[in-house]
Amino acid sequence: MADDRKRPIAVTRSSLPPLEEYVEMLKPLWESAWLTNMGEYHRQFAEQLKTYLGTPNLELFVNGHMALELALQAMDLSGEVITTPFTFASTAHAIVRNGLTPVFCDIDPVNYTLDADRLEELITDRTTAIVPVHVYGNVCDVERIGEIARRHHLKVIYDAAHTFGETYDGRGIGCYGDAAMFSFHATKVFHSIEGGAVAFRDEKLAPALYELKNFGITGYESVDSVGANGKMNEFQAAMGILNLRYVDGEIGKRRALARHYRGRLDGVEGIRLCPEDPRVRYNYAYMPVVFDGYRKDRDQVFAELAARDIHARKYFYPCVNSYACYRDRYDPALTPVADRISRQVLTLPLYASLSPDDVDRICDIILQ
Ligand SMILES: *Cc1c(COP(=O)(O)O)cnc(C)c1O
Repeated sequence: MADDRKRPIAVTRSSLPPLEEYVEMLKPLWESAWLTNMGEYHRQFAEQLKTYLGTPNLELFVNGHMALELALQAMDLSGEVITTPFTFASTAHAIVRNGLTPVFCDIDPVNYTLDADRLEELITDRTTAIVPVHVYGNVCDVERIGEIARRHHLKVIYDAAHTFGETYDGRGIGCYGDAAMFSFHATKVFHSIEGGAVAFRDEKLAPALYELKNFGITGYESVDSVGANGKMNEFQAAMGILNLRYVDGEIGKRRALARHYRGRLDGVEGIRLCPEDPRVRYNYAYMPVVFDGYRKDRDQVFAELAARDIHARKYFYPCVNSYACYRDRYDPALTPVADRISRQVLTLPLYASLSPDDVDRICDIILQ
């Protein structure tokens, strides 16, 4: 057998269905020449996702970011929106691009989601919504966030980009809050090349979401809102439909690899893994490891892996409130837990086609 021990390992690798199956899906597109604008695959994909995610109301989008940005627009918000700095650029950008002001709330030191204990002190009479993030597939404190939001009449829009297919207390994760955004980007657990969706509670939101992704067009001669182009095309929907057939198998492989990592790293002095909540059915999207008082720091582990062509990711680093485009308006010192975790965390390679030997090789380097 060929020695492949020197093969580079990226942090993630997109899963692809058998090529023949995708080609077969493309044939009807060549016949109908209906390539985008809510075609037959778009319709089928949305229906299948409603079933899979357990969410009765769902709208597809060209990507997760447009899904979030247009969901916020559909909610007709104003003023301030509380969110977390420990997330991907998209979350805060979606708020700012709606003319709203993000207010950064610190994170929970154990599961890295928005700290519900810090939430209420940030609410002002200008606050209209909360955008928490289910980071790494860890579920936010949905009960307390929901209770606080109800008391202050705030909307809750979850960035659920990391939690495709997860359930909490047996309910689909998209059922929590007024809306939840999913991302189907190629690097996510489940993908449609690029793609996204919004699951939402109030079915009356459906026309607004549909309109906003299609320029605000409501008829041949009428445009009622300042929408964007957020439509998912048929090639994306076809990929999504196919990948949905394989996603449970993919998650099963990820689960086995995540357990293998845990077996090697759990309990090591100075290394912290996220605890698993028995109420959550996880999708094993990421393998975050926090180096806190370990004999090597995060950057050292990152460099030692990189020297062997193994590419972990400093995800999320830096925090959003220290980006060049935000730092003159925000002080990362006001969210010290997020700031610290962003300097200590590394997400290790995790994808379905990674082998247990690869996991051992990575753990050997970390532990040596
Ligand atoms: C991937 C991601 C997004 C954006 O989704 P895209 O589909 O890439 O536009 C938003 N938020 C988080 C937390 C993400 O990981």
